[in-house]
Amino acid sequence: MSSASIIRDSSLAPSGADKIAWVWNNMPLLRAVCADFEKDRPLTGLKVALSVHLEAKTACLCRTLAAGGAEVFATGSNPLSTQDDVAAELARLGVHVYATHGCSQEEYDLYIRKVIEPGPDIIVDDGGDIVQMIRTRFPELEKNVIGGCEETTTGIARLRKLERNGALHFPMIAVNDADCKHLFDNRYGTGQSVFDGIDRTTNLIVAGKKVVVAGYGWCGKGVSMRAKGLGARVIVTEVDPVKALEAHMDGFTVMSMDEAAEQGDLFITVTGNCKVITEEHFLKMKNGAILCNAGHFDVEVDTACLNRIAAEQKQMKPNIRGYLLPNGTWIYLLAEGRLVNLAAGDGHPAEIMDMSFAIQALSCSYLAGHRGMLEPRLIPVPREIDNAVASKKLETLGIRIDALTPEQREYIGL
Ligand code: NAD
Ligand code: SAH
Repeated sequence: MSSASIIRDSSLAPSGADKIAWVWNNMPLLRAVCADFEKDRPLTGLKVALSVHLEAKTACLCRTLAAGGAEVFATGSNPLSTQDDVAAELARLGVHVYATHGCSQEEYDLYIRKVIEPGPDIIVDDGGDIVQMIRTRFPELEKNVIGGCEETTTGIARLRKLERNGALHFPMIAVNDADCKHLFDNRYGTGQSVFDGIDRTTNLIVAGKKVVVAGYGWCGKGVSMRAKGLGARVIVTEVDPVKALEAHMDGFTVMSMDEAAEQGDLFITVTGNCKVITEEHFLKMKNGAILCNAGHFDVEVDTACLNRIAAEQKQMKPNIRGYLLPNGTWIYLLAEGRLVNLAAGDGHPAEIMDMSFAIQALSCSYLAGHRGMLEPRLIPVPREIDNAVASKKLETLGIRIDALTPEQREYIGL
């Protein structure tokens, strides 16, 4: 075990090992990248600082980066998604792990600091917490950084802000924006895993319920699609007129949150924004309404406001907290308003994270191979990585597709 690790309990490692073995069997792309990495060792001598939900699929990414020659320093990207048994097994495998389930904000910050302090060459971030801390607290380390990869939409929004202010000092690859990431991970991954988290927590029927989905971006499309498949009557709220129209044409009822608040049985926010459901909405809700979030932070459902105005609170069971509002209605919040699919579940399925993490690993290799050659900007995942991941995925599914003939290439002007 890595002597430097901070984990809950090293004796949990065997259970973590079983979980990792299960998902590894279902991650053929990452296994192929890992085999190539073992041969080519593209990350030899490099330190990778990683902050991603510390569960079994992420452990497979760590293992792949280590197979490429990297020394990996890993922490979670959300206090509730860390699985202590997986963290224990990763540490046993020699990764420097700093992560405990349910850690406090102070511990969370300490763990991020721990992965940064050794001076990373490459960063794998999920939401921008590593980049933010390097920039504000360890600016002297920025010059060592070859570059990094950002996993999620909100992280990229944060990086864009930095770039605009001239404060991004090393290249960051926008992994989320690769086609093989957001088209599948954000849409199908979030769509399925959100209901996995809700179902295993509430054990209630979705069919017949009015499900309100806030945000019709990549995640919102997936969540709405799956809600419909489960038999819900789906209402979408949006701020973007084009997305709202798209939801309407996709067959969903579109209205403002003000109107939806009165009607919904189950509310799911996936906007990446703050205060999407707040006091004026809570007070209009039906008795027994259930709220949860699958967007980045625990601010989409205004949990601070809920805590402020509730006359009484009651923990119904793990991950379900009841709030008695001043008007006498009870509403229920899942997983403290944090990403319900990860805080109350195992997150996206293995086959989905297989694609996202194959892109991550190949992007790290790309950064190492282009050391000093890339601008300190937000850069797209190279098209060849996206195409290679799609082709390999099709191959593992046994799907063959056609190829353009020379005549067709000429005809369409390629
Ligand atoms: P996106 O940009 O494609 O979509 C967000 C949508 O929300 C946009 O259409 C926007 O117009 C809409 N929106 C913004 N403010 C709103 C408001 N007040 N009311 C209603 N709609 C509003 O982003 P995405 O890729 O769908 O990601 C959404 C969030 O989910 C991000 O925070 C992202 O980081 C996170 N995410 C979570 C998971 C997960 O596993 N839970 C997976 C991927 C992304
Ligand atoms: N810091 C944020 C993290 C963003 S979560 C937080 O507070 O929670 C959004 C990202 O989680 C998505 O882009 C998705 O790729 C990733 N994700 C979803 N399921 C996952 C899983 N099972 N393992 C690791 N990452 C996962």
